[in-house]
Amino acid sequence: MSFCCGASMIGTKGTLKHLRTHIHNVPILLCPVCHRVEVHYLVENEYDILAEYAHSDQAPEVDFFEYAEHKSGEDLFENCVNTENEDPLEIVLNQIDMALDLLTVAKQFEDEEWMDQLKRRLQILSKRKHRLLQRNAT
Ligand SMILES: [Zn+2]
Repeated sequence: MSFCCGASMIGTKGTLKHLRTHIHNVPILLCPVCHRVEVHYLVENEYDILAEYAHSDQAPEVDFFEYAEHKSGEDLFENCVNTENEDPLEIVLNQIDMALDLLTVAKQFEDEEWMDQLKRRLQILSKRKHRLLQRNAT
């Protein structure tokens, strides 16, 4: 739990501005007293990646939710986190961790659609993990 002004901050979604880009649907923590806003700690990395990506693309507006969805489709995210020498099993395990973290956030926001999406993603990842484990065993 994050605290500010002695009160616990409220989890919600909001629009943040990064340089010239508005980023919508970002999971945030809001202080009910002073209205300070910070990016939810579980999505800080994803937010940073998206913010950089949007800025380098000079996009005036992006949607964190769509990004998370796009991420389930893999390309952008894998480009960001993968290096060539990494063990594919390790990558899958990292992605599972990441998806589980996001699922915690989605549950907190009672965002059914996002939760479903992440669950599908986790199914795909666990199948992949299984395949990689079998391949390593032979
Ligand atoms: Zn405060």
